[in-house]
Amino acid sequence: MRQRTIAEPYKIKMVEPIKMTTRAEREGLMKEAGFNTFLLKSEDVYIDLLTDSGTSAMSDRQWAGMFLGDEAYAGSRNFYHLEAAVREVYGFRHTVPTHQGRAAEHITSQLRVKPGQFVPMNMYFTTTREHAERAGGVFFDCIIDEAHDPQSKHPFKGNVDLAKLQKLVDEKGAESIAYLSIAPCVNMAGGQPLSMANLREVAAWAKKYRLSIIFDATRALENAYFIQQREKGYAAKSVREILREMMSYGEGCTMSSKKDNLVNIGGFLATNNEDFFVKAKEMVVVFEGLHTYGGLAGRDMEAVARGIEEMVDDAYIASRVRQVEYLGSRLLEAGVPIVEPIGGHAVFLDAKRFLPDMPQDHFPSQALAAALYVDSGVRSMERGIVSAGRDPKTGEHRRPKLELVRLTIPRRVYTNLHMDVVAESCQALLEERKKIRGLDMVYEPESLRFFQARFEAR
Ligand SMILES: *Cc1c(COP(=O)(O)O)cnc(C)c1O
Repeated sequence: MRQRTIAEPYKIKMVEPIKMTTRAEREGLMKEAGFNTFLLKSEDVYIDLLTDSGTSAMSDRQWAGMFLGDEAYAGSRNFYHLEAAVREVYGFRHTVPTHQGRAAEHITSQLRVKPGQFVPMNMYFTTTREHAERAGGVFFDCIIDEAHDPQSKHPFKGNVDLAKLQKLVDEKGAESIAYLSIAPCVNMAGGQPLSMANLREVAAWAKKYRLSIIFDATRALENAYFIQQREKGYAAKSVREILREMMSYGEGCTMSSKKDNLVNIGGFLATNNEDFFVKAKEMVVVFEGLHTYGGLAGRDMEAVARGIEEMVDDAYIASRVRQVEYLGSRLLEAGVPIVEPIGGHAVFLDAKRFLPDMPQDHFPSQALAAALYVDSGVRSMERGIVSAGRDPKTGEHRRPKLELVRLTIPRRVYTNLHMDVVAESCQALLEERKKIRGLDMVYEPESLRFFQARFEAR
């Protein structure tokens, strides 16, 4: 029997009109934006798949919570709701709210990385690595090799390669490691999960060397769904239980609530380590705000607290990830090269196979993202050589094996007809790929260059 359709476990109560521009208009707009989709105006975008960050649709319950904001400077009621939700769902005793994920990364890196120490991560994430490096840390990639191969169908491409970690310890000693920064559903690998078995092994290994795991829990829920679907022994468990078990292997986490937590702004640092908590509270006051609001309004904390409770619904997370899968399957049927397996939050076009003749120096993923916008008003983003930035020591471009264009699906925002429009546009581009021209970078910011860099057609 065919797999039965699962519809969204919600209905739409409010809509926001979007408008289609003409191709000629989009050509002008893309040029004006320096061929960088981050520099387009949202108004000029038809379907916005730039990111799933802060772009979720909130529920009526979350919106209702916004009216219950306790905007006291200290001890807001909403902070205690947030703290309780984190305790209940993630299992961490202490929560320090922050305005978003990178602020939690900043605090964690400053407190936990000594200059010269390695920070192993299962692949880099832009802001996570940036903050580790600003604290004097050295990024160390400990993800399995399959993650760097867009055609490998490994079901858990986010797994940590323990042999890589062991080698680092053997050569440099365990003291040379600040902590293990483990990201479930690895964004830069294409939203690829790690398995519980792997996590368990990593935790046992880390314990042996008295190293802590600090999760980047941004997409841990989506990872929990994949464990439920793919890993032996988890099919009958709820995502709520699975997420709780995953987090139990860590000392704490940094979180961008703008992803899994279904809100437009917010984040936190959570931990079971008293000492770390006390120091983080001292530091958040300097950079974010008092430790019971950390740069957030009371109403925002309420929306996060409610989002955390809502997200651990098996029907919701199934429909969310299955929509991503729907878009991916349509692209595969059309012969469009994408990263497989299809990830949890996004479908990634493989620009190396899409534009096989374009050298990496001509920024193929950037060029493809620009061409997609011109074709259909769909906004995506580059995840290739531009995002990878330059090596801080040599000043050379880092040359990632993966040259990708990310089509990121906001949560609860678009329908599958929107996904059809996206798929058809990618297919049309594939047929006309010879016409896509490479780019020259004409303005390059020093850090996180992909956000503001400008390009011209070659
Ligand atoms: C978005 C993101 C961050 C940073 O969070 P912000 O809320 O954008 O500051 C960190 N790690 C991962 C994996 C992310 O996707």
